[in-house]
Amino acid sequence: MTETLKPDICVLGGGPAGLSVAAAAAAFGVPTVLIERGKMGGDCLNTGCVPSKSLLAAAKRAELMRNARLFGLNVQGIGADFAKVHDHVHSVIAALAPADSPERFTGLGVRVIRQHGQFKDRNTVTAGDVEIRARRFVIATGSAPAIPPIPGLDGGPFLTNENVFDLKERPEHLIVIGAGPVGLELAQAFRRLGSSVTVLEAAQPLANDDPECVAVVLDRLEREGIVIRSGVRVTGIARAGGVVTATIETSGAEQTVTGSHLLVAVGRKPQINELGLEAAGIRHDHRGIIVNARLKTSNRRVYAIGDCAAGYPALTHAANYHAGLVIRNALFRLPVRADNSAVPWATYTDPELAQTGLTEAQARARRMKIRVARWPYHDNDRAQIEREAHGHIKVITTRNGKIVGATIVGAQAGELIAIWTFAIAQGLNIRALTNIVLPYPTFSELGKRAAIDFFTPSLTKPWVRRIISWMRIFG
Ligand code: NAD
Repeated sequence: MTETLKPDICVLGGGPAGLSVAAAAAAFGVPTVLIERGKMGGDCLNTGCVPSKSLLAAAKRAELMRNARLFGLNVQGIGADFAKVHDHVHSVIAALAPADSPERFTGLGVRVIRQHGQFKDRNTVTAGDVEIRARRFVIATGSAPAIPPIPGLDGGPFLTNENVFDLKERPEHLIVIGAGPVGLELAQAFRRLGSSVTVLEAAQPLANDDPECVAVVLDRLEREGIVIRSGVRVTGIARAGGVVTATIETSGAEQTVTGSHLLVAVGRKPQINELGLEAAGIRHDHRGIIVNARLKTSNRRVYAIGDCAAGYPALTHAANYHAGLVIRNALFRLPVRADNSAVPWATYTDPELAQTGLTEAQARARRMKIRVARWPYHDNDRAQIEREAHGHIKVITTRNGKIVGATIVGAQAGELIAIWTFAIAQGLNIRALTNIVLPYPTFSELGKRAAIDFFTPSLTKPWVRRIISWMRIFG
């Protein structure tokens, strides 16, 4: 080893989780080392959230042009120049990359090492010819696409989120395996940009979400021409002459689906190989590194956060949240507790689907006595103006109105879920939402109308009527 460093914090992994820890630690003037072997920004910036939402943004413009006649506009000759769509996606990555760059982090005072890092023992990490003995280590090495053991799959090329954004030509017919958020977002993006798309799902699409709201998404995807086959087992993949054939088993019968390209989107696996976890005494299993509620591993010097930590959702904003907890615990010794219930999630299909807190089914499974307040998009003036009148909001409350969950399916659901996440985090009663004044006409009024909907039944109660007539005495 040519150099030994003794920082307060050493972070392994320069994705959203690791960068958040390093930036915050540096902001407090704490000596910090960041080790990243690949691209800074990790999966989110380079091969995940940023490129997928950029592709969806292009696809949305194509769809808006197709529907322009609804607004009295004639748009002709809509065609996606796929090479230029590719350039758009990569120019967005390039625009955001400086914020995650080694130069920026070096400027913040972080020592950035562009090497593979691994534990040598419980107290030491090596990266190239540098040895790091830090007071605290944070493992934030993320996740990679899971590859299912389907016979023939590895006999030729296939796409995952890691290479799908490199396509410069439009796939003629994309077969997608997996109808989770990744599979369905990309299915819709490619369909709107002109591909035929068939989705093969072993169980149910978006199985973690509210089925009633998922149905609204699936209805739109199918009306746009995406074929979704649920409850099918993919038993083999074969390729010949530029054609990929998936053999599927459904209700005991065997069928084939042919396409030009194959995308695998069946979930994630933690990226924890070759980290020297055994040498460091860090417990792990197939879900990732085992952590306690403070995100500490079985080695008390070491935290694990983001996608590589077992039992937490693989979401960028969850990783950022974890980073904040680690900073509070590691630097200020404050007691912290990672709380999944405060983490919303959204699928950016059109319509969007967003969830915070408990779904109706989760609340009922806990035998909670709940009420469900609703409001449909078609009764929202802005939704009619924008011709985005499909979807609805559901707010799950206790009997006396404490908000425990919200589900929104419709335009801008990912934005609209914010206030409900805030409400749950603050322990608010739905009454609080009835009293706020919101700008008209906006989608945000949907939430206020759902809140008013909660109290509507009480307006017809005899005692309410009696109070009103009694108040007449006062003129
Ligand atoms: P996922 O686990 O959410 O969904 C994968 C789907 O693939 C499941 O429905 C599963 O039943 C199906 N599947 C598994 N094996 C299969 C097989 N052999 N054949 C057919 N179907 C099979 O995974 P994902 O969609 O890849 O997403 C990965 C992670 O990233 C998730 O944690 C997700 O929440 C997150 N993510 C979030 C967003 C978002 O917030 N918008 C977007 C993308 C990804």
